[in-house]
This record gives sequence, C-alpha cells and structure tokens, in this order.
Amino acid sequence: MRIDSKGMATIIPIADLRKAPRPKARGDLDALLDAAADDETARASPVGDTLGRPLRDLRISVTDRCNFRCVYCMPKDVFDANFAFLPHAEILSFEEIARVARIFVERGVQKIRLTGGEPLLRRNVERLVEMLAKLGDVDLTLTTNGALLAKKARSLAAAGLKRVTVSLDSLDDATFRAMNDVDFPVAKVLEGIDAAAAAGLAPIKINMVVKRGTNDSSVVPMARHFRGTGHIVRFIEYMDVGATNGWRMDDVVPAAEVVRAIDAELPLENADRNYGGEVAQRWKYRDGSGEIGVIASVTQAFCRDCTRARLSTDGKLYTCLFATAGHDLRALLRGGFADAQIGNAIAAVWKVRVDRYSEIRSANTVRLPKVEMSYIGG
Ligand code: SAM
Ligand code: SF4
Ligand code: SF4
Repeated sequence: MRIDSKGMATIIPIADLRKAPRPKARGDLDALLDAAADDETARASPVGDTLGRPLRDLRISVTDRCNFRCVYCMPKDVFDANFAFLPHAEILSFEEIARVARIFVERGVQKIRLTGGEPLLRRNVERLVEMLAKLGDVDLTLTTNGALLAKKARSLAAAGLKRVTVSLDSLDDATFRAMNDVDFPVAKVLEGIDAAAAAGLAPIKINMVVKRGTNDSSVVPMARHFRGTGHIVRFIEYMDVGATNGWRMDDVVPAAEVVRAIDAELPLENADRNYGGEVAQRWKYRDGSGEIGVIASVTQAFCRDCTRARLSTDGKLYTCLFATAGHDLRALLRGGFADAQIGNAIAAVWKVRVDRYSEIRSANTVRLPKVEMSYIGG
C-alpha cells in the first residue's frame, strides 16, 4: 500500500500492467491493453462483430484435463503421460472466472456453458457453479462425459446448475469403450444421466459425435433408446478441431444421412429453431414421442449465426473454435484493470471478429495450426 500526498491509501496491484512500459510490437496483448485503457467508465453495452453477430454465448473451459481419451478429441498417443497440461498457477481461479463472466454478461452474454476437458474433474466445481448462478438471468449449463455425474448431479443442481449436456457416443459397450479409449462402460454414463434427470437438470441433451466406420451403426439404436424419455439426443458431425485427431472428410457422416437413417425407422418432421444462433437443427418424432437434433458443423456450416466466445482454461478469449490464437484476458484480470476496462477489451476483440472457419473450410484450412478443443472448451 502507498500513501499519497493527501494521505489517501492506494492499493498497488501485484503486477500493474496499466503503467507497465510497452515495448513496440507486443502484438495482441498491446492492443488489448490499449483497448482496456481507453475509457475506464465506458458504459457496458452489447456488442456486434463485423458480420453483425452479437456476443451471446460464453463457453468456459475450466480444465484442460480429462479422464477420457476420446479418439476424436484427445488421442492417447498425443495426450499421454508426457503431455504438458497447464500448471495450476496458469489456470484461472473461480474468482477470476466469475469476475470475467460477469463482465461478459454486462456485454450481452446470456448463456454460459462450463466445459473443458472434463469440467467435473475441476475440484469443487460446484463452488464455481454457485458463483455463476448468482449472475442473474443467465442460462447456465455444463457439458460432461458423465463419468462423475452420478456422484455430482445433486450437488450441481443444488449449486444452481440448470441443465446438463452429457456426451455418449454409443450404447454398444465395446464401441463406447473403444471410442473413449479408457475402457469406460456405457452403464456408468447411463447412471449419470439418470441421476441428472432425478436432480432436475432437464431437459438433458445427449451429444453423440458420429464417426464413419466407428459408431455410425449406433445412430438408430441411440435415437430409439432415448425416444420418449424427454432427453434430446444431438448427433454431431465429426469436426477437424485441433491438430491431433487425424481428421479426414471421409470420416464425417453428414447430418442429412443421420436424419434419413432415423426417419426410415422412426418417422421425423422438421421443427422450428428455439432461438436464433441455435447450433442444432431440430427434428420431432411424428408420433409425438420427443425430438432429436443434428449439428451439421461440417456439411451445413452455421457461422452466419455464431454468437459464441470461448474462454480457455488459462484465460484467453477465442472468438472461434478453429482460432489459432487467443486474447490474453488473464493478463488484464491479474494486471490491475477495472471491470469496465476489461469489458472494453472484450468489446474491442469482438468488434473486429471476422471468423467463419466452417464456411471456408477446405483441404488447406484443415492443415492450419489450431488449438485443441479440450483446452479452448468444446
Ligand atoms: N468432456 C466433456 C464432454 O465430453 O462432454 C466436455 C468437453 S468436450 C470437448 C465437448 C463436446 O465436444 C463433446 O460433446 C464432444 O463429443 C465434442 N467433441 C470433441 N471433439 C469433437 C470433434 N472432433 N468433432 C465434433 N465434436 C467433438
Ligand atoms: Fe474428454 Fe470430452 Fe474430449 Fe472426450 S470429448 S476426450 S470426454 S474432453
Ligand atoms: Fe462459430 Fe467458428 Fe464454428 Fe463458424 S467455425 S460456427 S465462427 S466457432
């Protein structure tokens, strides 16, 4: 603490970046610092990007670690015992996450999803849920592989979580064990889904990534199993996220093919979107027994309506799942900046956003360096 000439006490932040000398060409951080320094009192207001897309959703990766090694996300040969996961000091604390989430909400975010890696591996994640649930009128949800859900569903609901999405790639035990690559059984995930339903975390969404030749024969059984339960299965096209999963277009099962296969056995009809920017196309069973969704991120890109920002485990802001670089909000959070200044920096990043990767995907873009989904948040 310093006492100034008028006898007023001033707290000096541990690393005060506001007054730090700025060498030329520090790149993105420098631009962020300039934007943050702009106007400490700027009124928080919603912000649109270069294509007029508002900032509505925030996905927060609370850990880059996972207890699964899904072949399409964290292949074992890359994410092995030698893989350098983030050290504790680099990851945002719950207080930092809650603070930055509040700032995002002030800038227009209406929906927050906790993800990862596997979010339920983050110790006491319920405490974070409790902090975020106090943000007010925000749709708070979480995506999990379900392994720890039976144990945690009640405490998550008690902490204020509203809904949950559970990933499950097959009901066939051998197929599922091979896809998660840690020999995890289907039955345990189903227990987690039941516990979530009992805890009121509904409607539950169930994410299935469809990979040709691996689990495409599980599509119709999956639809049939969850029809009539109130849970909504969402079939996701396998994407070229990250740089480690060896993605090939031939492995993608187009959403239209998934719909045709289900419709042939369990007749479907198109349903309206719930809201603009919804990633899944909705289909209802004609007999009224529920609905499914398909996420056609590869064959029918929906960048036009993409309102999602992602916050990596170490506090970098990414404006696209396929971005190659993030913007270091942690430097601002730990650098003594006021909330309004951090809000300005977020707005400045969003305002110049041009991302539309899925619309311009090509053989060349697939080879671009990209961050891993487990780190940036799925
Ligand atoms: N571990 C949690 C889980 O699996 O639900 C949350 C993180 S995970 C990265 C979030 C979602 O991304 C999961 O539903 C997962 O299936 C999906 N995902 C991961 N890799 C993918 C890929 N290559 N293509 C499409 N979806 C993918
Ligand atoms: Fe883990 Fe989820 Fe990625 Fe599977 S999809 S490896 S469960 S982060
Ligand atoms: Fe949004 Fe990027 Fe995905 Fe397009 S590719 S929908 S911009 S995250």
